[in-house]
Amino acid sequence: MKALHWAILLALLALAVWLLSLLLRKRSGLPQGAVFYADSQYWQKPPKALYDASLGLVGKPDYLIRGENGALIPVELKSSNAPKQPWDSHLIQLAAYCYLVEQNYGLRPQYGLIQYRDRSFKIPYTQALESQLIDLIGEMRQCEQNCLASNPPNRSHNSPARCRGCGFSGICDQRL
Ligand code: SF4
Repeated sequence: MKALHWAILLALLALAVWLLSLLLRKRSGLPQGAVFYADSQYWQKPPKALYDASLGLVGKPDYLIRGENGALIPVELKSSNAPKQPWDSHLIQLAAYCYLVEQNYGLRPQYGLIQYRDRSFKIPYTQALESQLIDLIGEMRQCEQNCLASNPPNRSHNSPARCRGCGFSGICDQRL
Protein backbone atom coordinates (compact mmCIF):
# COMPACT_ATOMS: atom_id res chain seq x y z
CA MET A 1 0.00 0.00 0.00
CA LYS A 2 2.83 2.32 0.93
CA ALA A 3 4.46 1.71 -2.47
CA LEU A 4 1.19 2.70 -4.18
CA HIS A 5 1.11 5.98 -2.25
CA TRP A 6 4.65 6.75 -3.32
CA ALA A 7 3.85 5.94 -6.95
CA ILE A 8 0.83 8.26 -6.90
CA LEU A 9 2.86 11.00 -5.21
CA LEU A 10 5.63 10.72 -7.82
CA ALA A 11 3.11 10.77 -10.65
CA LEU A 12 1.49 13.91 -9.24
CA LEU A 13 4.90 15.52 -8.84
CA ALA A 14 5.82 14.71 -12.45
CA LEU A 15 2.50 16.17 -13.60
CA ALA A 16 3.12 19.36 -11.60
CA VAL A 17 6.61 19.77 -13.08
CA TRP A 18 5.24 19.23 -16.58
CA LEU A 19 2.46 21.80 -16.06
CA LEU A 20 4.95 24.27 -14.60
CA SER A 21 7.28 23.91 -17.59
CA LEU A 22 4.32 24.43 -19.93
CA LEU A 23 3.35 27.57 -18.03
CA LEU A 24 6.92 28.94 -18.07
CA ARG A 25 7.22 28.28 -21.79
CA LYS A 26 3.89 29.99 -22.46
CA ARG A 27 4.95 33.02 -20.41
CA SER A 28 8.32 33.27 -22.13
CA GLY A 29 6.64 33.12 -25.54
CA LEU A 30 8.94 30.36 -26.72
CA PRO A 31 7.57 28.15 -29.51
CA GLN A 32 7.24 24.38 -29.26
CA GLY A 33 10.50 22.47 -29.49
CA ALA A 34 13.55 21.77 -27.40
CA VAL A 35 15.76 24.65 -26.33
CA PHE A 36 19.01 24.20 -28.27
CA TYR A 37 20.80 27.32 -27.02
CA ALA A 38 20.02 29.95 -24.40
CA ASP A 39 21.85 33.13 -23.55
CA SER A 40 21.34 32.55 -19.87
CA GLN A 41 23.56 32.03 -16.86
CA TYR A 42 21.67 28.80 -16.25
CA TRP A 43 22.69 27.43 -19.64
CA GLN A 44 26.21 26.35 -20.65
CA LYS A 45 28.68 28.66 -18.89
CA PRO A 46 29.25 30.98 -20.62
CA PRO A 47 26.99 30.43 -23.67
CA LYS A 48 29.11 30.33 -26.79
CA ALA A 49 28.84 33.43 -28.97
CA LEU A 50 28.09 32.74 -32.62
CA TYR A 51 30.70 34.16 -34.98
CA ASP A 52 31.16 34.78 -38.68
CA ALA A 53 34.55 35.93 -39.89
CA SER A 54 33.47 37.00 -43.38
CA LEU A 55 31.14 39.71 -42.07
CA GLY A 56 33.01 40.19 -38.80
CA LEU A 57 29.75 39.45 -37.02
CA VAL A 58 29.37 38.08 -33.51
CA GLY A 59 26.26 37.64 -31.40
CA LYS A 60 24.29 35.62 -28.88
CA PRO A 61 20.62 35.02 -29.61
CA ASP A 62 18.39 34.86 -26.54
CA TYR A 63 17.25 31.39 -27.57
CA LEU A 64 17.57 28.87 -30.37
CA ILE A 65 14.70 26.42 -30.50
CA ARG A 66 14.93 23.10 -32.30
CA GLY A 67 11.78 23.02 -34.44
CA GLU A 68 10.33 20.48 -36.84
CA ASN A 69 12.75 18.59 -39.09
CA GLY A 70 15.69 19.75 -36.97
CA ALA A 71 15.29 23.41 -37.98
CA LEU A 72 16.76 26.03 -35.65
CA ILE A 73 14.58 29.02 -34.79
CA PRO A 74 16.27 32.11 -33.29
CA VAL A 75 14.16 33.91 -30.69
CA GLU A 76 14.89 37.46 -29.61
CA LEU A 77 13.17 38.60 -26.41
CA LYS A 78 12.25 42.26 -25.86
CA SER A 79 11.10 43.62 -22.53
CA SER A 80 8.87 46.33 -24.03
CA ASN A 81 5.34 46.03 -25.41
CA ALA A 82 5.07 45.35 -29.12
CA PRO A 83 4.94 48.19 -31.64
CA LYS A 84 2.50 47.81 -34.57
CA GLN A 85 5.38 46.36 -36.58
CA PRO A 86 8.80 45.33 -35.25
CA TRP A 87 11.34 48.13 -35.32
CA ASP A 88 13.85 47.96 -38.17
CA SER A 89 16.71 47.59 -35.70
CA HIS A 90 15.01 44.52 -34.17
CA LEU A 91 14.46 43.02 -37.64
CA ILE A 92 18.12 43.47 -38.51
CA GLN A 93 19.19 42.03 -35.16
CA LEU A 94 17.06 38.94 -35.78
CA ALA A 95 18.40 38.69 -39.35
CA ALA A 96 21.93 38.75 -37.92
CA TYR A 97 21.09 35.80 -35.65
CA CYS A 98 19.54 33.88 -38.57
CA TYR A 99 22.69 34.55 -40.57
CA LEU A 100 24.94 33.45 -37.70
CA VAL A 101 22.93 30.26 -37.20
CA GLU A 102 23.38 29.37 -40.88
CA GLN A 103 27.12 30.07 -40.76
CA ASN A 104 27.73 28.25 -37.47
CA TYR A 105 25.42 25.25 -37.78
CA GLY A 106 24.95 24.92 -41.54
CA LEU A 107 21.16 25.21 -41.16
CA ARG A 108 19.36 28.18 -42.67
CA PRO A 109 16.44 29.24 -40.44
CA GLN A 110 13.23 29.72 -42.38
CA TYR A 111 12.13 32.27 -39.84
CA GLY A 112 12.89 33.78 -36.46
CA LEU A 113 10.74 35.19 -33.69
CA ILE A 114 10.77 38.58 -32.02
CA GLN A 115 8.97 38.14 -28.72
CA TYR A 116 7.81 41.41 -27.15
CA ARG A 117 6.21 41.46 -23.73
CA ASP A 118 2.68 41.19 -25.10
CA ARG A 119 3.00 39.48 -28.48
CA SER A 120 5.43 37.90 -30.87
CA PHE A 121 6.18 38.35 -34.57
CA LYS A 122 7.22 35.54 -36.86
CA ILE A 123 9.75 37.02 -39.28
CA PRO A 124 10.59 35.04 -42.45
CA TYR A 125 14.33 34.97 -43.07
CA THR A 126 14.18 35.81 -46.76
CA GLN A 127 16.99 36.46 -49.23
CA ALA A 128 15.84 40.11 -49.23
CA LEU A 129 16.27 40.38 -45.45
CA GLU A 130 19.68 38.72 -45.64
CA SER A 131 20.75 41.15 -48.39
CA GLN A 132 19.53 44.07 -46.29
CA LEU A 133 21.71 42.84 -43.41
CA ILE A 134 24.79 42.37 -45.58
CA ASP A 135 24.33 45.80 -47.24
CA LEU A 136 23.96 47.47 -43.86
CA ILE A 137 27.09 45.83 -42.48
CA GLY A 138 28.96 46.89 -45.65
CA GLU A 139 27.82 50.50 -45.11
CA MET A 140 28.91 50.37 -41.47
CA ARG A 141 32.35 49.06 -42.39
CA GLN A 142 32.66 51.77 -45.04
CA CYS A 143 31.61 54.37 -42.52
CA GLU A 144 34.13 53.10 -39.96
CA GLN A 145 36.88 53.67 -42.49
CA ASN A 146 35.68 57.01 -43.90
CA CYS A 147 33.09 59.10 -42.09
CA LEU A 148 33.95 58.19 -38.50
CA ALA A 149 37.57 59.20 -38.98
CA SER A 150 36.75 62.57 -40.55
CA ASN A 151 33.48 63.35 -38.76
CA PRO A 152 33.12 61.41 -35.51
CA PRO A 153 29.72 61.64 -33.78
CA ASN A 154 29.44 63.37 -30.42
CA ARG A 155 29.10 61.37 -27.23
CA SER A 156 25.41 60.93 -26.35
CA HIS A 157 25.76 60.31 -22.58
CA ASN A 158 27.60 61.37 -19.43
CA SER A 159 28.22 57.95 -17.99
CA PRO A 160 31.85 57.15 -17.15
CA ALA A 161 30.78 53.54 -16.49
CA ARG A 162 29.65 53.15 -20.08
CA CYS A 163 33.01 54.43 -21.34
CA ARG A 164 34.87 52.11 -18.96
CA GLY A 165 33.07 49.13 -20.46
CA CYS A 166 33.33 50.32 -24.06
CA GLY A 167 35.54 48.52 -26.55
CA PHE A 168 36.47 51.83 -28.21
CA SER A 169 37.66 53.57 -25.06
CA GLY A 170 41.29 53.04 -26.02
CA ILE A 171 40.95 55.14 -29.16
CA CYS A 172 37.96 57.39 -28.37
CA ASP A 173 38.86 61.03 -27.69
CA GLN A 174 35.46 61.63 -26.02
CA ARG A 175 35.73 58.98 -23.34
CA LEU A 176 34.93 59.97 -19.76
S1 SF4 B 1 34.53 55.52 -24.93
FE1 SF4 B 1 33.74 56.87 -26.56
S2 SF4 B 1 32.56 55.52 -27.90
FE2 SF4 B 1 32.86 54.44 -25.96
S3 SF4 B 1 31.05 54.91 -24.75
FE3 SF4 B 1 32.61 56.43 -24.20
S4 SF4 B 1 32.23 58.16 -25.57
FE4 SF4 B 1 31.11 56.41 -26.43
